[in-house]
Amino acid sequence: MAILEEPIKEVSLIKNFIGGEWLKSKGEVKDVVNPATGKTIAKVPISTRDEIDAAVKAAQEAFPDWRTTTPLARSRCLFRLKELLEENFEEVSRIQTQEHGKTIDESRGETRRGIENVEVACGIPTLMQGYFSEDIASGIDEWLIPTPLGVFGIIGPFNFPFMIPLWSAPYAVATGNCVVIKPSSEVPNSQTRLTELADEAGFPPGVWNMVHGGRTVVTGMLEHPGINGIAFVGSTPTAKYIYKACGETGKRVIAQGGAKNFMVIMPDANIEATIPALMTSFFGNTGQRCLSGANLLIVGDDRFYNSFMDAVAAAASRIVIGYGLDESVQMGPVRDKEKKEKILGYIESGIQQGAKLRLDGRGQVKIAGDYPQTCFLGATIFENVTPDMKIGSEEIFGPVMSVMRAKNLDEVIEMCNASPFGNGQAIFTSSGKNAREFQYRITSGNVGINVGIVAPMAFFPFSGMKDSFFGILHTQGQEAVRFFTESKVVIQRWL
Ligand code: NAD
Repeated sequence: MAILEEPIKEVSLIKNFIGGEWLKSKGEVKDVVNPATGKTIAKVPISTRDEIDAAVKAAQEAFPDWRTTTPLARSRCLFRLKELLEENFEEVSRIQTQEHGKTIDESRGETRRGIENVEVACGIPTLMQGYFSEDIASGIDEWLIPTPLGVFGIIGPFNFPFMIPLWSAPYAVATGNCVVIKPSSEVPNSQTRLTELADEAGFPPGVWNMVHGGRTVVTGMLEHPGINGIAFVGSTPTAKYIYKACGETGKRVIAQGGAKNFMVIMPDANIEATIPALMTSFFGNTGQRCLSGANLLIVGDDRFYNSFMDAVAAAASRIVIGYGLDESVQMGPVRDKEKKEKILGYIESGIQQGAKLRLDGRGQVKIAGDYPQTCFLGATIFENVTPDMKIGSEEIFGPVMSVMRAKNLDEVIEMCNASPFGNGQAIFTSSGKNAREFQYRITSGNVGINVGIVAPMAFFPFSGMKDSFFGILHTQGQEAVRFFTESKVVIQRWL
């Protein structure tokens, strides 16, 4: 495959997948633009209320047969999906880069993490087993059966167009439910290709549905009595809205929200290993990860601080920027020009509020190749940031590092825990005592020790605390199996 070969070659109108059929939406249509090249690559429909209703109806109709399909037979569809994803691994990854802008290596990582959830869900015959107690009283037994509920809505964000619905969908269908997926309308191609492969994998019509669109589709899901629960990943304001709406309509819910992650550097950190980890954490995916480093919090004297920051700034200024399909590129564009404008607004606010701009990623960006500047931004570093500044407290979601200092570990923990977010905080240290203290006292759902992106594997829950997560059970692994099933308890006595 040539270096820049793009998998999407023609602009086509994306369709919905409802009840096993690809259907043209009656809704208005939006362009999907490749942020690196500025070219329109697809047209996505903003589907109507009738269309989400039709998808829920198809899912409800498919449920009784799917629920009685044995877990082994259901897992065979997932095994087949896994095979198809491996066969199409490179194409699926290139689609992500083409529509989102991330580098091809980042897309390959995303594809791999998505597939791992399919692999874990293949174990559903054992994952879904209940438990049994003999003789809870004389001659009486009691057991628990996890049972599917019906239909789940799965709503994804723009920053991981392929992987994030796979934190939920494989477990939902493996446990015998049917799903309606609403991808982010900014990046609809990755889920469309995934859904084609799910169709090929042999899920019966109505088990795996997809409806493109925005707020109308989400509201349609939230208000629909035929939807039993929602798995949502996106920003904190939307997560709060979804959580509240599900509470009002009695739906179970996972609502994963935004973040503002601290990366803590202790003076005893292994600097050589830490700098590359920080580059990936702050600038990987162009800073558009819920697990991205946002605030770099350094403990240590001036000498340590200055030499550490010299190394950080030097490494950040060497990042190769360009079109992610070029293998030599280390950072792609941000997703669209509105997001770039928002990030530029944050940079301006940092200057206004008195932070020191150490590395300025604005203006003409040096790009490998000949591409419009529209969505490109260079790595940006601010020093002398305080937690009350906007750049120190709000989620920027771009390649901007806000550097702060702390006296000691107690102050570190106080500063981190004062943030309303609690998604993925990390400490870099060679002291087991520091590491243990940090993981024990930090209010963060995912905690890194010398790891800059704390992305839980598919067989661990994707956690989150405070404004980063609303709900109880999480996506991925055993917790997802529990979320997508109700515990039916049976007590039996034979007279
Ligand atoms: P977003 O909240 O704007 O959109 C997420 C989804 O909700 C999209 O499908 C969108 O169409 C829909 N939506 C948006 N506004 C809505 C509204 N008012 N009513 C109903 N539906 C609405 O989020 P985004 O910009 O696509 O994604 C980036 C955000 O997601 C960041 O805040 C990031 O931290 C967060 N995120 C969190 C996690 C996590 O695991 N906690 C993972 C990835 C991304």
